[in-house]
Amino acid sequence: MANSFTQHSFGTNVKNPPFPMDVTSITIDTLTPERLKDFRLHLFSHLQTSLEVEQLISIFHRHLKQLIPVSGIEFIHGDKMIDITIGQVRKHRCNYQLSMSQQNYGDITFTRGKRFSEKELSVIESIMDVIIFPLRNALKYRDALATAMIDPLTGLNNRGAMSISLTRELERTRRHEDQDMSLVMVDIDHFKKVNDRYGHLAGDDVLRQVAQVIQQSIRGSDACFRFGGEEFVVLITNTHLAHSRMVSERIREAIEANVRLPDKDLKVTASLGLAHYNGESDWPALLERADKALYAAKNQGRNCVVTSLVKQPTSLCI
Ligand code: GH3
Ligand code: MG
Ligand code: MG
Repeated sequence: MANSFTQHSFGTNVKNPPFPMDVTSITIDTLTPERLKDFRLHLFSHLQTSLEVEQLISIFHRHLKQLIPVSGIEFIHGDKMIDITIGQVRKHRCNYQLSMSQQNYGDITFTRGKRFSEKELSVIESIMDVIIFPLRNALKYRDALATAMIDPLTGLNNRGAMSISLTRELERTRRHEDQDMSLVMVDIDHFKKVNDRYGHLAGDDVLRQVAQVIQQSIRGSDACFRFGGEEFVVLITNTHLAHSRMVSERIREAIEANVRLPDKDLKVTASLGLAHYNGESDWPALLERADKALYAAKNQGRNCVVTSLVKQPTSLCI
């Protein structure tokens, strides 16, 4: 019963007087070409209200149910790793591949317990194209948002992404007594000299190497962000202070051992400030403690980790 559907043209004139009749009263049995046109226009205007893929699928599902009983709808876009299911998945399925101008916009599957009749399939096909333009816009918007969250030089998440992640993580930590988190500020030592001596391109290469080394030193559940310039923030989740210290020290050692300058004999080092969650009401307060600890690490000679303790700071300087 699998079907594939490719949209070629779509000519709804949105300037037309919108809904001359109550479209919510249209059913599959009362559907005429004129009513189908109204139904499509009504659906299209609702789909214009969102740029969220999940909401579009939900709106489409809600409208389609008015004409045809469907228990669930699935939307899958493999390349973009989107897999959305709304309602319940049942035995009978009809599937449509959405594409336009050789662009793939994903697969939609409708499911229910009873077979779809030929008439129902032809009604579904007559409205499938309505979702393509809104879906294309939503997918583009989603791509733009993802790009805006990434630092182009290092490929790490940027400060905007950091703010979203830290807000979510701090909320989680505050809600669950058994959860803990730490923030680590990493700042490359004497980075200005690297630029001055070897040029900005070599400096950029060092930033990329440091980003890679940090990512290789943390777990998949932790995260590293480029905070700005030669500063990085590492989020260590669900961990004790002792473990965060160990991770920070591992990062410091890995930078010293692996990051290379054009002059291979010279080492790149970094200083780290660590702050462990201590009931802060927001993440900037926690980051400020990490920043103060970093400042202390610089003052203690660089290439070391300083932990911000709420009572007194301790250091692991070498
Ligand atoms: P400290 O050990 O005290 O941290 O000294 P520093 O030289 O690392 O610190 P400072 O803040 O004086 O200099 C940071 C330098 O980082 C200055 C700036 O030109 C450089 N920088 C910031 N962003 C970039 C970038 O994207 N690429 C390159 N190549 N350099 C950058
Ligand atoms: Mg700095
Ligand atoms: Mg620096």
